[in-house]
Amino acid sequence: MRLSDPHLLKDRCLIGGKWVGTPKLEVNNPATGALVGRVPDLGVGETRAAIEAANAAFPAWSAKLAKERAAILRRWYELQRDNKEDLALLMTTEQGKPLAEARSEVDYAASFTEFFAEEAKRIYGEVLPTPKESGRVLVLKQPVGVVGAITPWNFPLAMITRKISPALAAGCTVVVKPAPETPLSALALAELAMRTGAPPGVLNVVTDDAPAIGGELTSNPAVRMITFTGSTEVGKLLMRQSAGTVKKIALELGGNAPFIVFDDADLDAAVQGVLASKYRNSGQTCVSANRILVQEGIYGRFADKLASEVAKFKVGEGTEAGVMQGPLINAAALAKVEAHVRDAVAQGARAIAGGKRHSLGGTFYEPTVLTDVTTKMKLAQEETFGPVAPLFRFRDESEAIAIANGTPFGLAAYFYTRELRGPGAWPRRWNTAWLASMRGYSLRSLRRSAASRNQGLAAKAPIMVSRSSSS
Ligand code: ADP
Repeated sequence: MRLSDPHLLKDRCLIGGKWVGTPKLEVNNPATGALVGRVPDLGVGETRAAIEAANAAFPAWSAKLAKERAAILRRWYELQRDNKEDLALLMTTEQGKPLAEARSEVDYAASFTEFFAEEAKRIYGEVLPTPKESGRVLVLKQPVGVVGAITPWNFPLAMITRKISPALAAGCTVVVKPAPETPLSALALAELAMRTGAPPGVLNVVTDDAPAIGGELTSNPAVRMITFTGSTEVGKLLMRQSAGTVKKIALELGGNAPFIVFDDADLDAAVQGVLASKYRNSGQTCVSANRILVQEGIYGRFADKLASEVAKFKVGEGTEAGVMQGPLINAAALAKVEAHVRDAVAQGARAIAGGKRHSLGGTFYEPTVLTDVTTKMKLAQEETFGPVAPLFRFRDESEAIAIANGTPFGLAAYFYTRELRGPGAWPRRWNTAWLASMRGYSLRSLRRSAASRNQGLAAKAPIMVSRSSSS
């Protein structure tokens, strides 16, 4: 890996404006297994030091004028944009996604910083009617204090900027723990943040030991909020651990998105939608279509078309020209995908594309389409997180909705139809945080963090309907 700016490749953590720790834990390229770099293995003591640094930086940072914080965030956005090629290459090398997707993630990540740089100046309060004649009721928005952010490997930059740009804009200070698979992207972001002139301690990054860092972040009373994206299991654990010090908490957890294609849908558009939603990042995104529900009238034609498109995919190392699908992140991810396909095939599903490990070896898996899938199979209930499109058949709208809502998850949902069913009565019947019509993906910087239904935290349903949906 050759970066134009080699200083973006860090092997230490950032605490109180200083690069600290001993490079130890290996970061490997999932496409080749090659060593990319090493990062420190930090624990309770260093996390406590990072929290103390963030806590010490909080009074001055939160007292800055909003426009001063905005200027620093704006500069951070510009540095992300200016270093796009290096950030993308670093991401592909440690995460495996195709370079084109990594470039697009840099834009996506930077868009959060840009958006919240602007919003920093618009944190307004409210004046409420008073219950008595004397006095005024004012609502002031105040930064909560130190925020602990724990992030996943599937979007190594965007999940960080999405969490911490609003926190920094509001005047909070932050301790970030990135995923052990992708710490280098996080540290490169931190290096760019330091170049903005942000005061020491405003942003701190500590790399694994996850349970030790998570334990300290959730139990230390100086941390006032935990924000997490990752598995439902770990999200629940962090919630339990945070109860002792009653922290605010924001969770974005697992999904099991239904993608519904009605008989009247534009077939080509729906197939393109599945390609975008299902195979992006090898299916390793929480809003990936996990269950493709196709109405019986077009089931066969849809399956054939999808399989023929998927067969054209070039699979390989993300830096190779034309590659559309990279490896899975690690052996555990590969084992889960294999187990889901094995279970489905044993219960009568048919692989009409792919269905096994890729001949490239390592953690590569063939882009796969399964037909004759039923709700009894594992992949109907659990997130597969891989390049497998299971096609369920349905008769009518009611059956589709029943299948769509038939899991404890509720993060994202998609539907394709020419009839405008979305913004009217329909969304009320969906148990989902994101609902997209005629689009295989959802909003960029405007989307709000949503909690999975499984957690019982209410989430608003932004509804996205593309223009063509009214045709
Ligand atoms: P995945 O299985 O997709 O990696 P995880 O929920 O395990 O999802 O990981 C998401 C993030 O949570 C990563 O940064 C990971 O290191 C972190 N994590 C995992 N276990 C814990 C834990 N016990 N406490 C705090 N963070 C954790």
